[in-house]
Amino acid sequence: MRLANLDGRAALVFATDGSSLALDVETASGGLIGSDPQAVYADWDSFAAWAVTVEPGGVPFERSSLGAPVPRPRQVFAIGINYAEHAAEAGYPAGSLPITFTKFPSCLTGPDAQVELPPGSVDWEVELVVVISRSAKDVSREDAWSHVAGLTVGQDLSEREAQNAGAKPQYSLSKSHTGFGPMGPWLVSTDEFENPNDLAISSTLSGESMQSSRTSMMIYSVPDLIFELSRVCELYPGDVIFTGTPAGVGNARTPKRFIGPADTLRSEIEGIGYLENTFRSRDH
Ligand code: ZN
Repeated sequence: MRLANLDGRAALVFATDGSSLALDVETASGGLIGSDPQAVYADWDSFAAWAVTVEPGGVPFERSSLGAPVPRPRQVFAIGINYAEHAAEAGYPAGSLPITFTKFPSCLTGPDAQVELPPGSVDWEVELVVVISRSAKDVSREDAWSHVAGLTVGQDLSEREAQNAGAKPQYSLSKSHTGFGPMGPWLVSTDEFENPNDLAISSTLSGESMQSSRTSMMIYSVPDLIFELSRVCELYPGDVIFTGTPAGVGNARTPKRFIGPADTLRSEIEGIGYLENTFRSRDH
């Protein structure tokens, strides 16, 4: 199933010939399920059991009405250096423990948001985003997928000057400017994927291909990440994990390339959909 945040309300999305329809969850369930897209994850099993009984239908909608499918996670885990080719271009050795940081939840925004560019050098990182359903603590790799509600597309926008500021790097803050966490266009539940461990992932900047890989190339797979993270701390329903980006970021190019106000950034993952973000300069 596809679960969207449409104007702040949970909605099921159904693909039809050439367009998509959205069905309001609270209305269609007669109030059994509430309208808050974040609250759905707190009782995912009840929601999923209801959702499979729903006949496809609904009304057409504009993509501009879509918000982040997970608007207020309690915790946002983000993984650095999780594709071997990106590790090489960034100058990190592969094989060490996953580098983990956070994107503060206030940076999360919708799939087609226009993002204000702060001073500095803003770069792109398309990432598979995992959304937790059942709480996870000390979860085995074998059991990990049963704690996942579904997958969505994320952009880990990053201001590289602060991120790489020598002895005073601002890893999490440099990735948490307002609007630096576009997500969507919706959550796709894990049962929709033939193999959720192997999905094409790509980004283009103003039509030019920048990143193209497969999620099977991750050094730490989704089960590995849930195993490693849940050994340290509890993952709550509705938490998200940005799982790292493949090679092809602007900071590693010769010459370096960063996002400008005229650019359009498209980020896509097979079986989920795409984000399409535009940008504007800060006017003060
Ligand atoms: Zn990243």
